[in-house]
Amino acid sequence: MQLSLVVCALPLLLVSSSATSYGCDLHDPSNPCYIAGGGASDLGPDPVPFSTRAYWMRRAIAALADINEGSPCPFAAFGSVIVNHTAPGKGTGEGDRADQLGVEVCIGANSLVRDGNPTLHGEIAAINNCSRILTDPDGPYKLSGPEALQALSDLSLYTTAEACPMCSSAILYGGFREYIFSTSIPTLRSLSWPQIVIRSREIFSRSVGRLSVHRTRIIGDVLANETEQLFKWQYADGECPSGCEKKEGSGCVKPTTLNDSTGKDEL
Ligand SMILES: [Zn+2]
Repeated sequence: MQLSLVVCALPLLLVSSSATSYGCDLHDPSNPCYIAGGGASDLGPDPVPFSTRAYWMRRAIAALADINEGSPCPFAAFGSVIVNHTAPGKGTGEGDRADQLGVEVCIGANSLVRDGNPTLHGEIAAINNCSRILTDPDGPYKLSGPEALQALSDLSLYTTAEACPMCSSAILYGGFREYIFSTSIPTLRSLSWPQIVIRSREIFSRSVGRLSVHRTRIIGDVLANETEQLFKWQYADGECPSGCEKKEGSGCVKPTTLNDSTGKDEL
């Protein structure tokens, strides 16, 4: 009997230790350390159809070619698009189609080597681009700085891979309505990508105070089977993404015989 009690208590101790490892019970909504941003299960079922999620994730993939001179296989294949699902049709002129899909506000792609700026991961680049567009006095929105910050709470950020701690924090500080990623950090690690292995949900779960008021819906692994192809060749010996071929000493490149329109179509 005594042995049985010990055996039963051990798993409980392990569970308790795991759930309170930061001094907060992350699963207890009454605890001040509990935060939102816990994901779809925290905010109920996803109200947006998967086909719409897939459409925008493919747009995040296409953003890579749009920003990287037509190449569908940039080394850092981290692309993003920021979408307004709350003001359908506004500013696009696409009518009913936009009503169903939402509206693209801006795109971004990893530009740190091109611009010599280590903060320009795809998500940060997109946020910077959106801030410029939202506050452009000659643009469609013409918002003040405070208005632009407030507007982020209506926007959804799609990204080809799970955000690193820097970008997760930026999404958290931005108070985005939704954050949707594709290839996960564990998958990137399995392909030998250098990573800081802290998952986005952990970043959100650790925030307290003012940051805890806003709730961001986090959805992961959307179209991961498609985006994973973008990350297989850089550090692992995987095949090239569609539209690219291996070149000795250069990894995957867009063939010079492939014209721009063909390359984009194959995305
Ligand atoms: Zn990042």
